[in-house]
Amino acid sequence: MDESPKLPLELFQKLPKTDLHVHLDGSLRLETILELAQQGNIELPSRDPDELRHAMHLGENCGSLVDYLKAFDVTLRVMQTEAALHRIAFELAEDAARENVRYMEVRYAPMLHTRRGLKLTGVIEAVLGGLKAARDAYGIESNVIVCGIRNVSAESSLEMAELAVAYKGRGVVGFDLAGAEYDHPAKHHKAAFQLVRDNNINVTIHAGEAYGPESIAQAIHVCGAHRIGHGCRLREDGDLLHYMNDHRIPLECCPSSNVQTGAVRDLKSHPLKLYFDLGLRVTVNTDNRLVTDTTVSRELWLCHTQMGLGLRDIKSIIMGGFKSSFLPFHERQAQLRQVGEELARYDDDGTVRPSAPPPRETERPRSSAFVGSAKN
Ligand SMILES: [Zn+2]
Repeated sequence: MDESPKLPLELFQKLPKTDLHVHLDGSLRLETILELAQQGNIELPSRDPDELRHAMHLGENCGSLVDYLKAFDVTLRVMQTEAALHRIAFELAEDAARENVRYMEVRYAPMLHTRRGLKLTGVIEAVLGGLKAARDAYGIESNVIVCGIRNVSAESSLEMAELAVAYKGRGVVGFDLAGAEYDHPAKHHKAAFQLVRDNNINVTIHAGEAYGPESIAQAIHVCGAHRIGHGCRLREDGDLLHYMNDHRIPLECCPSSNVQTGAVRDLKSHPLKLYFDLGLRVTVNTDNRLVTDTTVSRELWLCHTQMGLGLRDIKSIIMGGFKSSFLPFHERQAQLRQVGEELARYDDDGTVRPSAPPPRETERPRSSAFVGSAKN
């Protein structure tokens, strides 16, 4: 048993972070659901916060992915107007900014928000508007990943892929396939993936969560995934694991969510540390802030307290998040430089070194090219 002192959650809240795997429709505030339901006269399982929390199994073990997904039946009821979508996107980015998330990729399936007549473009623009308002208020950068849903239809996924193409360069940076994994292989949605890849759009796919490593292999080799959501069962196929390592294909790990859906038994048996120790590109994410009742800081803190990762490893995982984003390369580099400097101030025991003062004018190193031209 590791007897080293455990670092407090507050430290993890201060560190700069990413959240690359977070679902809009699973990350609302409970109070916002209640308020929006009140305003729109929308039926909920209960109007009492504690009862509603219990009815939606927030933060509780659900036993399966399919049961976990039932909470979304409730959240989607209050996400059918532009005003609600704008507010929910803004509040999600606000909550993330408050725990020092610097960059977030929010995912959702716009087709699930048209029940009361919204157009797909209206859905997309309401969410982008909310995220932009949060950027203006708090400086948090965020982009959108459009999702198709495995258990809906290949046609609807193609429609979502077309939407991702239409908003490429305007806030949409990727395409994902979410929903029930078992019995719904990604290859059925191949046309959608072909369209987004033909348009040079990034692909991430939920795989190896409720199905075996074959699902991960299919996501990478048939559908062209650049990142994998969860990948809990990758450890069952060493050869594929090495392939992902060699190609630096990032894993979007969401530890608490994986326990909640029964993908792993408990945090201690989560494969994240194994993957990290083997050198894989591991990122830590929330999945669903409301449904899993968590934050990125808490997930990182659990990696520390439950899986035995020290602060040096946590800092490396945080850098892995910034390296794995779907931002253009030069923007990623700029973030990495900034965040690398900030993280370097933290010693492995959590103490913070004062930042070095900027070099004085006369001490600034000059490039040899500059010195040479000055001489001539
Ligand atoms: Zn997810």
